[in-house]
Amino acid sequence: MRAVLVLIDGARVDVLRELLGRGDLPNLSRWVIERGGLTTGTTVFPSTTGVAYIPFLFGRYPGSVGIPGIRWLDRRGAAGGWREQWRAARSYCGVQGGWLNGDITPAPSLFDLVPQSIAICTPLTRGLGPRGNRIAVRRAVLGAAAHYLGTYPALDRAVARAWLDAALEPWRFLFVVFPGVDGISHLKDPRHPAVLESYRLVDRALGAFVARVQQRGGELPEFFVVSDHGMTAMREHSDTATLLEASGVRTLRHPVHVWRRGARVATMVSGNASVQLYFDPRSGRERPLTEPEIPAAILERLLALPAVQLAACRGGGDAGGVVVRTRNARARLTEALGLIRYQPETGDPLGLGGYVELDDRDLLSRTRETAVPDAPRQLLQLFQTVRAGDLVLAAARGTDFRGPWEVPEHRAGHGSLIAEHMEVPIAASVVLPHAAIRTVDLMPTILERLDITAPSDLVLDGVPFSKLATVPEPLVR
Ligand SMILES: [Zn+2]
Repeated sequence: MRAVLVLIDGARVDVLRELLGRGDLPNLSRWVIERGGLTTGTTVFPSTTGVAYIPFLFGRYPGSVGIPGIRWLDRRGAAGGWREQWRAARSYCGVQGGWLNGDITPAPSLFDLVPQSIAICTPLTRGLGPRGNRIAVRRAVLGAAAHYLGTYPALDRAVARAWLDAALEPWRFLFVVFPGVDGISHLKDPRHPAVLESYRLVDRALGAFVARVQQRGGELPEFFVVSDHGMTAMREHSDTATLLEASGVRTLRHPVHVWRRGARVATMVSGNASVQLYFDPRSGRERPLTEPEIPAAILERLLALPAVQLAACRGGGDAGGVVVRTRNARARLTEALGLIRYQPETGDPLGLGGYVELDDRDLLSRTRETAVPDAPRQLLQLFQTVRAGDLVLAAARGTDFRGPWEVPEHRAGHGSLIAEHMEVPIAASVVLPHAAIRTVDLMPTILERLDITAPSDLVLDGVPFSKLATVPEPLVR
């Protein structure tokens, strides 16, 4: 058996469903959904490109493998010389992009476990063989042009051609990334006609690939068509770094203030609708701060911003865990003996209706109808890594944390914990479970379909579809 994982970066599940309803995605419908199904899954926090690819390829949460965001601060390096300071202000958005592979802590990727893997247009390449990483140069050149000039269709067409070229090769796992939906959405709007055309381009590429496999009498592989995050239009930019500077708090930030002298805080933005703050970034202190140590005046000022949906940090004292804050509410999340406990102290910041203590998968289902799906698990996984900020902010709908100065300006974005960023389409040619699923469940599912026995000591955060409740068979057909 063979498997193809197609990642439409930034595809919204509702937009995908509307296009399917209009008959605009006939190949996705026929070759994938009619054989299996389509469901709404949830991604990871921060819901951003690269970071949110980790679950698909490693079956782990980003926080489980040391990647807290697309930008983060290496606390030790930030206290060093000018070269170390630049390195420490990690950003996978530019020339440091390839460092993502080395920064992920040791764990085998799908590429390691399936040696006959080919990947097209991916920032995550760890474990690929010498000929496995396709169009890497075109990805760099066309990707840079697309970022500044909006020429994403040229990049997507190059992906489609490379996919078709690979059709008849002896691969077992193909990973195909289409960046156009995300890229054009950022410049325009998630429902702009040019964005909708990018979905159709992916569908035509799928049709061409299937036709080529069938021409040669080949058996169709299993298909998984997914997205790494949703997106929303941004009405207001609430640049936390500029706001802090305006109130006299020197702030280390990208792109050019990574050498900020006397910085009292560093702001590392992902998406752009989430930001992680690191206090005293030149102190060389490697230990993250807990709630009682975070400057209260700054925290309260940030919580008062309409742009902030919620804030979270590591809890202090013996209770530990993660403290979730909104302006008027406070709760603590802890995990012990396989159960996650949500203890509201004031109000109900995650909207769960009060005290909850549930198993991980039951809590996932319970959160799916809230404004912040899977928030308990996602906040706990993020703060597993010491690299995560002292404080994280998730943006409210329609707002992000970078200024209009960004080139190009982001008119739409993602990165927050809100439903429209966390919900993603998961289409598969295999039977989908009835239970709520996450993007982290794809990797173990693909391993199982490929009949690959993972090493017995392999730790995964995801669960294969077969181990989750499947759709009950209808009694009468
Ligand atoms: Zn994006």
